[in-house]
Amino acid sequence: MAYPLACARSVPHHVAYCLWKYGSREQKEKLLPSIFKAEVIVSECISEPEVGSDADRISTRTVRDGDSYIMSGEKRFTASVGVADVFLVFAITSPDVHPTRRIGVFIVEKDRGNIHPAEEFSALGWKGLRIVSELVFNGVRVPRENLVGQEDQGFDILMDMLDQERVVVAGGVIGPARICLEIARRYSEERMAFHRQIRAFEGVSFKIGDLALMIEAASLLRIKAARMIDRDLPAVKETAFKVTTEAMQILGGIGYTDKYLVERHSRDACGFTIGVGISEIMRLVIQREVYKEAGLSGQ
Ligand SMILES: Cc1cc2nc3c(=O)[nH]c(=O)nc-3n(C[C@H](O)[C@H](O)[C@H](O)COP(=O)(O)OP(=O)(O)OC[C@H]3O[C@@H](n4cnc5c(N)ncnc54)[C@H](O)[C@@H]3O)c2cc1C
Repeated sequence: MAYPLACARSVPHHVAYCLWKYGSREQKEKLLPSIFKAEVIVSECISEPEVGSDADRISTRTVRDGDSYIMSGEKRFTASVGVADVFLVFAITSPDVHPTRRIGVFIVEKDRGNIHPAEEFSALGWKGLRIVSELVFNGVRVPRENLVGQEDQGFDILMDMLDQERVVVAGGVIGPARICLEIARRYSEERMAFHRQIRAFEGVSFKIGDLALMIEAASLLRIKAARMIDRDLPAVKETAFKVTTEAMQILGGIGYTDKYLVERHSRDACGFTIGVGISEIMRLVIQREVYKEAGLSGQ
């Protein structure tokens, strides 16, 4: 249950950060205490059936109607949405302007009506997370006071939230990587093959050394990223995935079974290479920062 639990703890943090930084006084007073007391469960609705990494292409939209917005569209893969009371929804407010300037962020309470959850996916890992495949907003009336920040600020808010999110999530994946390394190290001392401990083979012991190095590097990178939160893009998600799969390899056949935790961590770590920004997109963003730091234009 560790990953769903970590997610159930971290998503409220991300939503609360958004409200704390961009929300109105009324929004903060109404929601922050109950989010922190876990009286209200929140979810972030960004991804859609046709849109993932390129979030500025979302098609969920709102139309102004007096003091309200009428929201229609479909969201997908929203963590915890199966149990959420409140959704933080990213939706188009002004269809005719530049994609990064046409998105707003809305607080949408589940009991507003006209919100229909579709089937739930059964995912490879993160069991218990209640990732619903689609959430359909079918003409949901959202009052103007539920807009967070300005009508055109949604994309900037999302980028800011993702920076925070990646540092928080990085902390969550280094722990399981350490656990898997420890299991693999112990196993390499206990298991015998060809009349010796398997750690006597460099193919095994060098892996243990390399993985320990990767974890330490990822850990330091995360600390650095947390300190320069506005510019960070750490690559620790790949580290966790690499460590868990290599640990499974060291355990051999038994690693492929559920006797050791390595199998479960391996499935769960896989989700981190997608969930908070797919690995390829992380590389895209990192290389852009490298060029920018050298005074060149990013692509
Ligand atoms: C466990 C989990 C939890 C999640 N939680 C949430 C949540 O709470 N809220 C939410 O809104 N969403 C959530 N998501 C969705 C997640 O954010 C998306 O899956 C992710 O952003 C990738 O989008 P996509 O799946 O549509 O893939 P796509 O963006 O369609 O990518 C498909 C493939 O194309 C590649 N690709 C795309 N663009 C580029 C590029 N420019 N360069 C190189 N390769 C590229 C990708 O690397 C990938 O291999 C979650 C997903 C998972 C797995």
